Amino acid sequence: MHRLLIADRRPPGASVMAITEPARAVPFDEVAAAGPADLDAAVAAARTAFPDWARLTAVARAEVLFRFADLVRAHADELATLEARNVGKPIGDARWEAGHVADTLRYYAGAADKFFGQTIAVKKGGLDVTLHDPLGVVGLIVPWNFPMVIATWKLAPALACGNTVVLKPASLTPLTALRLGELGLEAGLPPGVLNIVPGPGASIGAALAAHPDVAKIGFTGETATGRAIMAAAAATIKRVGLELGGKSPNIIFADVDIEPVAREAVASVFANAGQDCCARSRVIVERRIADQFVEAMAAAAQALIVGDPLDERTQMGPLVSASQRERAETYVAIGRAEGARLVCGGERLAGDGFFLRPAVFTDARPRMRIVDEEIFGPVVVVLTFESEEQAIALANDTMYGLSGSLWTNDLKRGLRVARAVRTGVLSVNSSSSVHLQAPFGGYKQSGLGRELGMYAMEHYSEVKNIYFETE
Ligand code: NDP
Repeated sequence: MHRLLIADRRPPGASVMAITEPARAVPFDEVAAAGPADLDAAVAAARTAFPDWARLTAVARAEVLFRFADLVRAHADELATLEARNVGKPIGDARWEAGHVADTLRYYAGAADKFFGQTIAVKKGGLDVTLHDPLGVVGLIVPWNFPMVIATWKLAPALACGNTVVLKPASLTPLTALRLGELGLEAGLPPGVLNIVPGPGASIGAALAAHPDVAKIGFTGETATGRAIMAAAAATIKRVGLELGGKSPNIIFADVDIEPVAREAVASVFANAGQDCCARSRVIVERRIADQFVEAMAAAAQALIVGDPLDERTQMGPLVSASQRERAETYVAIGRAEGARLVCGGERLAGDGFFLRPAVFTDARPRMRIVDEEIFGPVVVVLTFESEEQAIALANDTMYGLSGSLWTNDLKRGLRVARAVRTGVLSVNSSSSVHLQAPFGGYKQSGLGRELGMYAMEHYSEVKNIYFETE
C-alpha cells in the first residue's frame, strides 16, 4: 500500500482505497486515503515549511526545481507506465506526458528568477516599486484524466513563487502524484513544502477548500465541483483558480482539404478516450461539405486502434472507470432518443476492460443534451452551418468557453472568426490546446484564471506595492 506523504513522514491514513486498472477492470494497487486529522497535519506541515521556503532566493528555489525536473526525466518510463495502467491511456501518450511534466518543472524553475516587479513613476516623486510575494499554503485538487500533468501545471508555478503545497489527487488515480512527491523530496524540496494527501473529494477535498490556513485553491475538474469550491473558499476569501469543463467547437470551412482535417478532427476528440476538457466534441462543418466530411470522420474513427494501453500500437484505451463508460453509453442512448443519427461506434469491446468504440453523431442541433452537455467520453456531435455568422453563433452557443479550433485556408476569415469565438484558447488550422509557455484557461463557466506561461506566476502570488519617500 502507498501511504500519504506529509512532510517526510508516510502516515497510513484513515482507510485504504483499491486502485483499478481500467484495461482489465481489476484492482492492481492500494493507496492510503487521508482522514480529517491527516489533512490538518498536511496543512500544518505546509504552514511550518512556508517561511523558510518563501525566504529562499528565487535562484535557490529554481535549483531544487531543476533537480526535480531531472529526476522526473530519469523516471519518465516508470511514471508513464503507472499513468498508462492507472488511467488507461496509450503508453505513447503517457510517455509524452511524463516528458511534459519534466518540461513544466524546468520552465518554472527558469521562471522563478525572471518574474519581475515594476518601478512606477508616481506623482509624488519618490520611488514606487512592486514585489511579488507568495500566498502561503496552496491547496491543489486535481482530476483523473491527466493526473501528473495537471498536478504539475499547478505545483510547479506555486513552488517557484515560494508557496508550499498540499496536493489532493483524484481518488481513481493517485499513484503518479505520490511518486512525484517522493521525487520532489529526493530533489531537495524541504519536508513540508510538497505534501500529497489522496482522499475522497467530498470530505478531504471539501475540507481543503474550506481550511482556514489555506490561502488559495488551484482546482481542475467539473464545473459543478468548481462552484462548490468557490462557495467553500468564500468564508476566508481564499483565492481560487478554476479549470473546469468544456464543449469545444471545431469549425470546418468548405475550403479545407477534407481527408486530413477529418482525421485531425477525430484525433482531437478521441484522444484520451474523449476524457479531455479540450476535446473538440462539437464539429461545426460548412453544409456543402458536411456529408463528405462526416464520411471521412467515420472512416477515421473506425480505423482507430482501440485496445491495451500498454501496446505501442494502441491509439485509444479504455475509459477510466465502469461509471465513466456508463455515462458515455447513457449519452449515446440520449442522442438516439433525441433524434440525432449515430453514424458509427458507441458499442463495447468484448472483454473485461472499460472500452467503448468512438461514436460519431450527425443531424444534431443545439438544445439536444448531446450537443449542450459535456460528455467526457468518446462521443462527438456534428452540426452544420451555411454562413460565417452562423458558425460563430453555433460555436458560442454554450455555457463553456475553454478551447476550440477552426480550419480554413482564408487567412482573413481565420482571424475574424478566431477573434469572435469566446474561448480562452483557440487554434487555427491546428488542434493543439496546450503550449506550456502560453496561457491556458477558460472563458464563461469553463473557469477562472489562467495556467501555464508567466500568467500562472501571477495567480500564485500577491503583488505588493512599496513606496519610498525620498524627500
Ligand atoms: P471532479 O470535479 O469530480 O473531481 C476533480 C477533483 O475534485 C478530484 O480530486 C475529486 O476528488 C475532487 N472533488 C470532488 N468533489 C469535491 C468537493 N466537493 N470539494 C473538493 N474537491 C472535490 O471531476 P472529475 O474527476 O470527474 O474530472 C472530470 C472533469 O474535469 C470534467 O468535467 C472535465 O471537463 C474537467 N476537467 C477540466 C480541465 C480544465 O483544464 N478545464 C482539465 C481536465 C478535466 P475524488 O476523485 O475523490 O472525487
